[in-house]
Amino acid sequence: MDLSPVDDAVKELLEIASPVTGDERTLLDQSYGRASAEDVFAQIDVPFFDNSAMDGFAGCHGDLLEGMTYSVYDRIPAGRLGQTLTKNSLARIFTGAPIPEGADTVIVQEDVDFSLDTATIKKLPKKYSNVRRRGHDITSGSKVVSKGEFLSSAAVALLASVGETSVKVKIPLTVAIFSTGDELVLPGKALKSAQSYNSNRFLIYGLLRDMGLNVIDLGIVPDDYSKTLAMLSKAGEVADVIISSGGVSVGEEDHVKAAVRALGSVNIWKVAMKPGKPFLLGEINGKPLLGLPGNPVSTFVSFFVFAKPFLKATQGLSEVAPNELYGLSSFDFQAGSRREYLRARLRSKQGGTWIEKYAHQGSSVLSSLRWANCLAIVDGAQQIKIGDPIKFIELD
Ligand code: AMP
Ligand code: MG
Repeated sequence: MDLSPVDDAVKELLEIASPVTGDERTLLDQSYGRASAEDVFAQIDVPFFDNSAMDGFAGCHGDLLEGMTYSVYDRIPAGRLGQTLTKNSLARIFTGAPIPEGADTVIVQEDVDFSLDTATIKKLPKKYSNVRRRGHDITSGSKVVSKGEFLSSAAVALLASVGETSVKVKIPLTVAIFSTGDELVLPGKALKSAQSYNSNRFLIYGLLRDMGLNVIDLGIVPDDYSKTLAMLSKAGEVADVIISSGGVSVGEEDHVKAAVRALGSVNIWKVAMKPGKPFLLGEINGKPLLGLPGNPVSTFVSFFVFAKPFLKATQGLSEVAPNELYGLSSFDFQAGSRREYLRARLRSKQGGTWIEKYAHQGSSVLSSLRWANCLAIVDGAQQIKIGDPIKFIELD
């Protein structure tokens, strides 16, 4: 069977993703990391009034000259409305305080010799200097948050800056996860010789939690066809999306594919990537199932390349693809026939961004993921020489 190119597989996945329809209104404190279900338009200008960007003296530029001394008629701290400017005077003003009526310029205090009631201008700036105009950040009526936008801290703060107390968000997906493998045990039990700890459960659980999704961990299913069937039907009942790890290779002990086929359908099977070649997209009870390979690095890379964009699209987020950037390779590399995702790290050197790769790139080496802050991407058959541009995606 031919391998599917990664981009085709992602495209197919995104076509299948059907965004959640349910939404709810939530207080800003509960909205972080959720997908906005509405466009939000500002009802006010921000800032709400012209104000000073600096501590200094406010005056009318046309009346001012360098070297001249003026009387200081008012003192305007932030939060207080000052009196209208009097002719040939300056107002002592502080950052964030409203520019008094009649003034148009603020002279920073470092450029003024001043006492309590007089001020001599040492250096006059240009007209309108150090004045933050009403609406210079946001004008009333403009969009501050878009439907389908991920609510970052900055987006939530922006909503607060226009006075919103709540926002309509999409209901978070519930994702059921399970791990397959006779060899797996949870930390807390001593390992017997042929066993290993179920680290993927913690990897996937955390990745999903970071995305703001609800996670139901259904535990470990042994390498047994009928137990896999039972696990899958249960998962299909409790979740919107199912994610499994392991058991999707072609070995006799890999039962996920056959069980998914028995209960529903299987769409993608082998993708031209390394690590992560076996990847399964299926459907059970109308719920999508993403079958990630079991080797921890393959699990992670498949999650990042396939599951994450798919989940984002299903969650109703509009930006789903990872941001592809370029750096300079600090290594020579010859890719095989599949696209390779290398665990790598960004380093700034000689004025450029260089990409270093982890020495041990094996798909079972979980330490490489802890070390990496990006995945370098080398296309199938591509040859990379030291200093060549190399594509990468940041791991956020
Ligand atoms: P599989 O995809 O089931 O053939 O597993 C491939 C490799 O990944 C084997 O060495 C498994 O022991 C390992 N593996 C599978 N599932 C997990 C898991 N949940 N945590 C850690 N390693 C795993
Ligand atoms: Mg297995």
